[in-house]
Amino acid sequence: MSLLRPLRLLLISPPGGGKGTVSSKLLKEYQSITSISSGDLLRNEIRSKTDVGQLASKIIQEGGLLPDDIVSNIVIKELKSRNLLNNKNSWLLDGFPRTLNQAKVLHQDLFKYDSTINLVVELKVPEKVILERIENRWVHIPSGRIYNLQYNPPKITGKDDVTGEQLSKRPDDNTDVFLKRLEAYKETIGPVKEWYDQQGVLDSVEGETSDIIYPKLLELIKKKFNQ
Ligand code: AMP
Repeated sequence: MSLLRPLRLLLISPPGGGKGTVSSKLLKEYQSITSISSGDLLRNEIRSKTDVGQLASKIIQEGGLLPDDIVSNIVIKELKSRNLLNNKNSWLLDGFPRTLNQAKVLHQDLFKYDSTINLVVELKVPEKVILERIENRWVHIPSGRIYNLQYNPPKITGKDDVTGEQLSKRPDDNTDVFLKRLEAYKETIGPVKEWYDQQGVLDSVEGETSDIIYPKLLELIKKKFNQ
């Protein structure tokens, strides 16, 4: 499937709300879309044992948010290095911006390149469903591929389908840390949504699982960008 005009999408959802799963489905459908996940970029910094990685490791394990300037730098650097700061490419951001300040910093950069975000979709998932899902989530850290023991188990228990490498539990996927992440989300996301709403790009899709949410998201994108 191809898009008739570039899509610059921001997906927002509570932690564990399925941004990662929905993103990978969307990338399969539209091969022209590049995805950038701030959480994956930070986990890569941790693996590479950089200074940012050391800080990220501590904050992520506590369920907090990293300082706006650090995350903004990392994501904008990634957009630049992948040549995405132009008005031709389609991309999606997963997990960034998460605060109003991040949204404004990003907007300044994108505006210079005539490439501001043109669709923001909030994935609305009930909290009880999310908590259950977090406990069943396993990830392949190098690629960011996500598995769920209930809905989307790996072909071989504990191994990544593509590389055969070991899957792991994210250190922040436990109930205590999760509740803190959910609080951080609720505190910061309101002004972000309001800001994008004022720009006329905010939408939402609702459902209990990614299998319900994804077709709704696809429909929305087709309606706005395929014609
Ligand atoms: P995620 O994979 O999106 O759930 O992110 C995992 C963790 O990385 C979050 O709980 C935060 O600690 C940190 N993080 C990711 N994106 C951001 C962001 N945009 N701003 C601040 N912290 C972030």
